Amino acid sequence: MIDLRIRVDPFPVVEPLVVRLRDQADDPGPNDAVLIGREGARREYEFQGFSLALHAADHLKLDNDVIMIVPGQTSARRLIRADSQHNTLLVTEQCDQLCLMCSQPPKKQHVDLFSELETAASLAPFNAYIGLSGGEPLLHKRNLFAMLLSLSKMRPDLKFHILSNGQHFGEEDTDTLREIGVERILWGIPLYSANADDHDVIVKKTGAFERLLASFSVLFEAGAAIELRTVVMQQNYDMLAALAGFVGTALPFVERWAIMQLENIGFGRMNWDSSFKDTSIDFGNVARAINIAAARDVPVQLYNFPLCSVPARYRHLAPASISDWKNKQEPFCAGCSLRQRCGGFFEWYVHKKGFRGLEPI
Ligand code: SF4
Repeated sequence: MIDLRIRVDPFPVVEPLVVRLRDQADDPGPNDAVLIGREGARREYEFQGFSLALHAADHLKLDNDVIMIVPGQTSARRLIRADSQHNTLLVTEQCDQLCLMCSQPPKKQHVDLFSELETAASLAPFNAYIGLSGGEPLLHKRNLFAMLLSLSKMRPDLKFHILSNGQHFGEEDTDTLREIGVERILWGIPLYSANADDHDVIVKKTGAFERLLASFSVLFEAGAAIELRTVVMQQNYDMLAALAGFVGTALPFVERWAIMQLENIGFGRMNWDSSFKDTSIDFGNVARAINIAAARDVPVQLYNFPLCSVPARYRHLAPASISDWKNKQEPFCAGCSLRQRCGGFFEWYVHKKGFRGLEPI
Protein backbone atom coordinates (compact mmCIF):
# COMPACT_ATOMS: atom_id res chain seq x y z
CA MET A 1 0.00 0.00 0.00
CA ILE A 2 1.29 3.45 -0.88
CA ASP A 3 1.52 5.79 2.08
CA LEU A 4 -0.48 8.97 1.53
CA ARG A 5 1.17 10.67 4.50
CA ILE A 6 4.73 11.86 5.02
CA ARG A 7 6.32 12.58 8.37
CA VAL A 8 7.20 16.24 8.69
CA ASP A 9 9.25 18.07 11.32
CA PRO A 10 7.32 20.75 13.26
CA PHE A 11 6.67 23.71 10.95
CA PRO A 12 5.34 27.07 12.14
CA VAL A 13 1.91 27.23 10.48
CA VAL A 14 -1.36 28.40 11.99
CA GLU A 15 -3.51 27.33 9.01
CA PRO A 16 -3.26 24.39 6.60
CA LEU A 17 -0.45 25.04 4.16
CA VAL A 18 -0.32 23.62 0.63
CA VAL A 19 3.17 23.13 -0.74
CA ARG A 20 4.52 21.71 -3.99
CA LEU A 21 7.79 19.85 -3.55
CA ARG A 22 10.40 20.50 -6.23
CA ASP A 23 13.71 18.70 -6.59
CA GLN A 24 14.96 21.83 -8.31
CA ALA A 25 13.43 25.07 -9.57
CA ASP A 26 15.06 28.18 -11.02
CA ASP A 27 11.99 30.30 -10.49
CA PRO A 28 9.95 28.77 -7.65
CA GLY A 29 6.34 29.85 -7.29
CA PRO A 30 4.81 31.01 -3.97
CA ASN A 31 3.78 27.43 -3.05
CA ASP A 32 7.01 25.76 -4.15
CA ALA A 33 9.47 24.25 -1.68
CA VAL A 34 12.84 23.45 -3.25
CA LEU A 35 15.04 20.57 -2.15
CA ILE A 36 18.33 21.75 -0.66
CA GLY A 37 19.64 18.63 1.04
CA ARG A 38 19.16 14.93 1.77
CA GLU A 39 20.55 12.88 4.59
CA GLY A 40 19.25 9.35 4.98
CA ALA A 41 15.48 9.52 5.12
CA ARG A 42 15.51 13.25 5.87
CA ARG A 43 14.93 15.70 3.04
CA GLU A 44 15.30 19.41 3.64
CA TYR A 45 13.49 21.96 1.50
CA GLU A 46 13.68 25.73 1.37
CA PHE A 47 10.25 27.30 1.54
CA GLN A 48 9.97 31.09 1.56
CA GLY A 49 13.13 31.41 3.61
CA PHE A 50 12.18 28.65 6.06
CA SER A 51 13.57 25.14 6.37
CA LEU A 52 10.98 22.45 5.81
CA ALA A 53 12.09 18.89 6.66
CA LEU A 54 10.33 15.69 5.57
CA HIS A 55 11.13 12.05 6.26
CA ALA A 56 10.54 9.65 3.40
CA ALA A 57 12.00 6.39 2.13
CA ASP A 58 14.95 6.86 -0.19
CA HIS A 59 13.22 5.44 -3.26
CA LEU A 60 10.14 7.65 -2.88
CA LYS A 61 9.86 10.20 -5.70
CA LEU A 62 8.37 13.42 -4.41
CA ASP A 63 9.26 15.85 -7.19
CA ASN A 64 6.14 17.92 -8.04
CA ASP A 65 4.02 16.20 -5.41
CA VAL A 66 1.63 18.53 -3.62
CA ILE A 67 1.32 18.11 0.14
CA MET A 68 -0.73 19.79 2.85
CA ILE A 69 0.75 20.55 6.26
CA VAL A 70 -1.87 20.91 8.97
CA PRO A 71 -1.05 22.79 12.18
CA GLY A 72 -0.23 20.44 15.04
CA GLN A 73 0.04 17.33 12.86
CA THR A 74 3.30 15.43 12.54
CA SER A 75 2.56 14.13 9.07
CA ALA A 76 1.67 15.95 5.87
CA ARG A 77 -1.03 14.70 3.50
CA ARG A 78 0.08 13.84 -0.02
CA LEU A 79 -2.79 15.46 -1.92
CA ILE A 80 -1.33 15.12 -5.41
CA ARG A 81 1.23 12.47 -6.37
CA ALA A 82 2.72 13.78 -9.58
CA ASP A 83 3.34 10.37 -11.14
CA SER A 84 -0.04 8.86 -10.28
CA GLN A 85 -3.35 8.82 -12.16
CA HIS A 86 -5.17 8.06 -8.90
CA ASN A 87 -5.28 11.34 -7.03
CA THR A 88 -8.50 11.94 -5.14
CA LEU A 89 -9.29 14.92 -2.95
CA LEU A 90 -11.75 14.44 -0.11
CA VAL A 91 -14.16 17.36 -0.20
CA THR A 92 -16.27 16.57 2.84
CA GLU A 93 -17.12 13.67 5.12
CA GLN A 94 -20.75 14.71 5.46
CA CYS A 95 -23.43 12.82 3.54
CA ASP A 96 -27.21 12.63 3.52
CA GLN A 97 -27.36 8.94 2.66
CA LEU A 98 -26.21 5.88 4.62
CA CYS A 99 -25.58 3.41 1.80
CA LEU A 100 -25.14 -0.20 2.90
CA MET A 101 -21.82 -0.52 1.08
CA CYS A 102 -20.34 2.94 1.83
CA SER A 103 -16.56 2.75 2.08
CA GLN A 104 -16.31 6.12 3.82
CA PRO A 105 -19.11 6.34 6.37
CA PRO A 106 -20.23 9.92 6.89
CA LYS A 107 -19.34 12.16 9.79
CA LYS A 108 -21.36 15.02 11.21
CA GLN A 109 -18.64 17.64 11.03
CA HIS A 110 -17.42 19.36 7.88
CA VAL A 111 -13.87 20.67 7.74
CA ASP A 112 -13.86 23.28 4.99
CA LEU A 113 -10.70 22.97 2.92
CA PHE A 114 -12.00 24.24 -0.45
CA SER A 115 -9.40 26.95 -0.64
CA GLU A 116 -6.57 24.47 0.06
CA LEU A 117 -7.96 21.90 -2.36
CA GLU A 118 -8.23 24.54 -5.07
CA THR A 119 -4.61 25.51 -4.51
CA ALA A 120 -3.56 21.86 -4.61
CA ALA A 121 -5.40 21.22 -7.88
CA SER A 122 -3.94 24.39 -9.38
CA LEU A 123 -0.46 22.97 -8.70
CA ALA A 124 -1.15 19.55 -10.27
CA PRO A 125 0.81 18.42 -13.32
CA PHE A 126 -0.43 19.47 -16.77
CA ASN A 127 -3.47 17.48 -17.93
CA ALA A 128 -3.99 15.87 -14.54
CA TYR A 129 -7.20 13.89 -13.92
CA ILE A 130 -8.30 14.48 -10.35
CA GLY A 131 -10.96 12.67 -8.35
CA LEU A 132 -13.20 14.55 -5.92
CA SER A 133 -15.08 12.49 -3.38
CA GLY A 134 -16.82 12.54 -0.03
CA GLY A 135 -19.14 12.12 1.77
CA GLU A 136 -21.33 14.02 -0.61
CA PRO A 137 -19.47 16.91 -2.27
CA LEU A 138 -22.68 18.63 -3.39
CA LEU A 139 -23.76 19.23 0.19
CA HIS A 140 -21.35 22.13 -0.28
CA LYS A 141 -22.46 22.89 -3.81
CA ARG A 142 -21.83 26.63 -3.74
CA ASN A 143 -18.22 26.20 -2.67
CA LEU A 144 -17.67 23.20 -4.91
CA PHE A 145 -18.96 24.98 -8.01
CA ALA A 146 -16.99 28.13 -7.12
CA MET A 147 -13.82 26.02 -6.90
CA LEU A 148 -14.53 24.27 -10.19
CA LEU A 149 -15.34 27.56 -11.94
CA SER A 150 -12.13 29.10 -10.70
CA LEU A 151 -10.07 26.08 -11.75
CA SER A 152 -11.73 25.96 -15.15
CA LYS A 153 -10.33 29.43 -15.80
CA MET A 154 -6.97 28.95 -14.10
CA ARG A 155 -6.29 25.38 -15.28
CA PRO A 156 -8.46 24.51 -18.28
CA ASP A 157 -6.29 21.43 -18.88
CA LEU A 158 -7.52 19.71 -15.69
CA LYS A 159 -10.26 17.10 -15.74
CA PHE A 160 -12.26 15.80 -12.78
CA HIS A 161 -14.07 12.65 -11.77
CA ILE A 162 -16.57 13.58 -9.07
CA LEU A 163 -18.41 11.05 -6.94
CA SER A 164 -21.86 12.25 -5.95
CA ASN A 165 -25.04 10.63 -4.68
CA GLY A 166 -26.99 12.68 -7.22
CA GLN A 167 -29.40 14.16 -4.69
CA HIS A 168 -28.67 17.83 -5.10
CA PHE A 169 -28.69 18.94 -8.74
CA GLY A 170 -31.40 21.47 -9.60
CA GLU A 171 -32.46 23.25 -12.78
CA GLU A 172 -30.70 26.36 -11.51
CA ASP A 173 -27.37 24.49 -11.90
CA THR A 174 -27.58 23.97 -15.65
CA ASP A 175 -25.79 27.18 -16.63
CA THR A 176 -23.09 26.72 -14.00
CA LEU A 177 -22.40 23.16 -15.16
CA ARG A 178 -21.99 24.43 -18.70
CA GLU A 179 -19.81 27.32 -17.59
CA ILE A 180 -17.50 24.97 -15.68
CA GLY A 181 -17.32 22.89 -18.86
CA VAL A 182 -19.25 19.65 -19.17
CA GLU A 183 -16.35 18.06 -21.05
CA ARG A 184 -14.19 18.63 -17.98
CA ILE A 185 -16.14 16.52 -15.48
CA LEU A 186 -17.34 12.93 -15.29
CA TRP A 187 -19.97 12.58 -12.56
CA GLY A 188 -19.88 9.16 -10.87
CA ILE A 189 -23.41 8.60 -9.57
CA PRO A 190 -24.83 5.40 -8.03
CA LEU A 191 -28.09 3.65 -8.84
CA TYR A 192 -28.78 0.28 -7.25
CA SER A 193 -32.16 -0.81 -8.54
CA ALA A 194 -34.82 0.15 -11.06
CA ASN A 195 -37.31 -0.16 -8.25
CA ALA A 196 -37.61 3.01 -6.18
CA ASP A 197 -38.25 1.27 -2.87
CA ASP A 198 -35.33 -1.14 -3.27
CA HIS A 199 -32.93 1.67 -4.18
CA ASP A 200 -34.13 3.75 -1.23
CA VAL A 201 -33.64 0.85 1.19
CA ILE A 202 -30.06 0.33 0.00
CA VAL A 203 -29.13 4.02 0.38
CA LYS A 204 -31.30 4.35 3.50
CA LYS A 205 -33.08 7.47 2.32
CA THR A 206 -36.78 7.70 1.48
CA GLY A 207 -37.38 9.45 -1.83
CA ALA A 208 -33.76 9.10 -2.96
CA PHE A 209 -34.66 7.32 -6.21
CA GLU A 210 -37.10 10.02 -7.33
CA ARG A 211 -34.65 12.77 -6.44
CA LEU A 212 -31.94 10.95 -8.34
CA LEU A 213 -34.04 10.85 -11.49
CA ALA A 214 -34.65 14.59 -11.19
CA SER A 215 -30.88 15.13 -10.97
CA PHE A 216 -30.29 12.95 -14.03
CA SER A 217 -32.70 15.19 -15.97
CA VAL A 218 -30.71 18.26 -14.98
CA LEU A 219 -27.41 16.65 -15.91
CA PHE A 220 -28.83 15.43 -19.22
CA GLU A 221 -30.16 18.90 -19.99
CA ALA A 222 -26.77 20.42 -19.24
CA GLY A 223 -25.00 17.86 -21.43
CA ALA A 224 -22.99 16.54 -18.47
CA ALA A 225 -21.14 13.22 -18.63
CA ILE A 226 -22.36 10.54 -16.20
CA GLU A 227 -20.70 7.35 -15.04
CA LEU A 228 -23.56 5.36 -13.56
CA ARG A 229 -22.29 3.14 -10.73
CA THR A 230 -23.94 0.00 -9.33
CA VAL A 231 -22.35 -2.07 -6.59
CA VAL A 232 -23.43 -5.70 -6.89
CA MET A 233 -24.76 -7.02 -3.59
CA GLN A 234 -26.99 -9.80 -2.35
CA GLN A 235 -29.66 -7.10 -2.00
CA ASN A 236 -29.78 -6.22 -5.72
CA TYR A 237 -28.26 -9.23 -7.49
CA ASP A 238 -31.62 -10.57 -8.67
CA MET A 239 -32.60 -7.11 -9.91
CA LEU A 240 -29.59 -6.48 -12.14
CA ALA A 241 -31.28 -7.53 -15.38
CA ALA A 242 -34.25 -5.26 -14.68
CA LEU A 243 -31.85 -2.45 -13.83
CA ALA A 244 -30.03 -2.98 -17.13
CA GLY A 245 -33.33 -2.65 -18.96
CA PHE A 246 -34.11 0.53 -17.06
CA VAL A 247 -30.69 2.02 -17.81
CA GLY A 248 -31.09 1.21 -21.50
CA THR A 249 -34.55 2.78 -21.62
CA ALA A 250 -34.42 5.71 -19.19
CA LEU A 251 -30.72 6.54 -19.03
CA PRO A 252 -29.20 5.60 -22.40
CA PHE A 253 -27.23 8.85 -22.41
CA VAL A 254 -24.81 7.75 -19.67
CA GLU A 255 -21.15 7.70 -20.65
CA ARG A 256 -20.80 4.25 -19.15
CA TRP A 257 -22.35 1.94 -16.59
CA ALA A 258 -19.86 0.73 -14.00
CA ILE A 259 -20.95 -2.53 -12.36
CA MET A 260 -18.82 -2.81 -9.24
CA GLN A 261 -17.76 -5.32 -6.63
CA LEU A 262 -18.04 -4.50 -2.95
CA GLU A 263 -15.17 -2.87 -1.04
CA ASN A 264 -14.49 -4.46 2.34
CA ILE A 265 -14.22 -1.30 4.41
CA GLY A 266 -16.53 1.10 6.23
CA PHE A 267 -20.18 0.02 6.05
CA GLY A 268 -19.07 -2.42 3.33
CA ARG A 269 -17.10 -4.32 5.95
CA MET A 270 -19.81 -4.02 8.59
CA ASN A 271 -22.41 -5.44 6.20
CA TRP A 272 -20.08 -7.82 4.32
CA ASP A 273 -21.71 -11.10 5.32
CA SER A 274 -25.19 -9.91 4.40
CA SER A 275 -24.15 -7.99 1.27
CA PHE A 276 -21.14 -9.55 -0.51
CA LYS A 277 -22.23 -11.48 -3.57
CA ASP A 278 -19.61 -13.95 -4.73
CA THR A 279 -19.71 -13.39 -8.48
CA SER A 280 -16.76 -15.76 -8.95
CA ILE A 281 -19.14 -18.67 -8.41
CA ASP A 282 -22.30 -17.06 -9.80
CA PHE A 283 -21.82 -14.46 -12.51
CA GLY A 284 -25.15 -15.19 -14.23
CA ASN A 285 -27.10 -12.03 -13.42
CA VAL A 286 -24.11 -9.80 -14.07
CA ALA A 287 -23.74 -11.43 -17.50
CA ARG A 288 -27.45 -10.92 -18.19
CA ALA A 289 -27.20 -7.27 -17.23
CA ILE A 290 -24.15 -6.76 -19.45
CA ASN A 291 -25.88 -8.41 -22.41
CA ILE A 292 -29.03 -6.31 -22.00
CA ALA A 293 -27.02 -3.11 -21.67
CA ALA A 294 -24.89 -4.01 -24.70
CA ALA A 295 -28.02 -4.64 -26.77
CA ARG A 296 -29.06 -1.08 -25.96
CA ASP A 297 -25.64 0.41 -26.69
CA VAL A 298 -24.87 1.26 -23.08
CA PRO A 299 -21.12 0.74 -22.51
CA VAL A 300 -20.41 -1.37 -19.43
CA GLN A 301 -17.30 -1.62 -17.29
CA LEU A 302 -16.65 -4.01 -14.42
CA TYR A 303 -14.83 -2.33 -11.53
CA ASN A 304 -13.12 -4.12 -8.63
CA PHE A 305 -13.55 -7.57 -10.20
CA PRO A 306 -10.41 -9.76 -10.05
CA LEU A 307 -10.00 -10.98 -13.65
CA CYS A 308 -10.25 -14.68 -12.77
CA SER A 309 -13.65 -14.02 -11.18
CA VAL A 310 -14.97 -12.93 -14.60
CA PRO A 311 -15.81 -15.37 -17.41
CA ALA A 312 -13.32 -15.04 -20.28
CA ARG A 313 -15.78 -13.41 -22.70
CA TYR A 314 -16.36 -10.48 -20.33
CA ARG A 315 -12.81 -9.93 -19.10
CA HIS A 316 -12.14 -7.12 -21.57
CA LEU A 317 -14.71 -5.08 -19.62
CA ALA A 318 -12.74 -5.31 -16.35
CA PRO A 319 -9.95 -2.71 -16.17
CA ALA A 320 -7.52 -2.50 -13.27
CA SER A 321 -9.81 -0.06 -11.50
CA ILE A 322 -8.55 -0.14 -7.90
CA SER A 323 -6.40 2.90 -7.15
CA ASP A 324 -2.67 2.19 -6.97
CA TRP A 325 -2.36 3.22 -3.32
CA LYS A 326 -4.95 0.73 -2.04
CA ASN A 327 -4.39 -2.22 -4.33
CA LYS A 328 -2.84 -5.63 -3.65
CA GLN A 329 -2.60 -9.11 -5.06
CA GLU A 330 -2.94 -12.37 -3.16
CA PRO A 331 -0.14 -14.97 -2.83
CA PHE A 332 -1.90 -17.27 -5.33
CA CYS A 333 -1.59 -14.52 -8.00
CA ALA A 334 2.17 -15.06 -8.20
CA GLY A 335 2.11 -17.42 -11.17
CA CYS A 336 -0.91 -15.97 -12.97
CA SER A 337 -0.53 -14.95 -16.62
CA LEU A 338 -3.08 -12.13 -16.17
CA ARG A 339 -1.22 -10.58 -13.29
CA GLN A 340 -0.01 -7.51 -15.18
CA ARG A 341 -3.44 -6.34 -16.26
CA CYS A 342 -5.50 -7.59 -13.30
CA GLY A 343 -6.76 -5.01 -10.82
CA GLY A 344 -6.38 -7.48 -7.96
CA PHE A 345 -7.92 -6.66 -4.61
CA PHE A 346 -8.40 -3.83 -2.19
CA GLU A 347 -5.67 -3.72 0.44
CA TRP A 348 -8.25 -4.57 3.10
CA TYR A 349 -9.80 -7.53 1.22
CA VAL A 350 -9.94 -10.66 3.43
CA HIS A 351 -9.69 -13.72 1.22
CA LYS A 352 -11.12 -16.22 3.69
CA LYS A 353 -14.38 -14.22 3.61
CA GLY A 354 -14.16 -13.35 -0.08
CA PHE A 355 -14.27 -14.95 -3.53
CA ARG A 356 -14.31 -18.75 -3.47
CA GLY A 357 -13.98 -19.37 -7.20
CA LEU A 358 -10.63 -17.75 -8.04
CA GLU A 359 -7.81 -19.55 -9.84
CA PRO A 360 -4.65 -18.26 -11.50
CA ILE A 361 -4.92 -18.36 -15.29
S1 SF4 B 1 -5.10 -15.08 -9.88
FE1 SF4 B 1 -4.77 -13.02 -9.09
S2 SF4 B 1 -3.77 -11.90 -10.77
FE2 SF4 B 1 -4.67 -13.75 -11.65
S3 SF4 B 1 -6.65 -13.06 -12.40
FE3 SF4 B 1 -6.95 -13.93 -10.34
S4 SF4 B 1 -6.82 -12.17 -8.98
FE4 SF4 B 1 -5.95 -11.54 -10.93
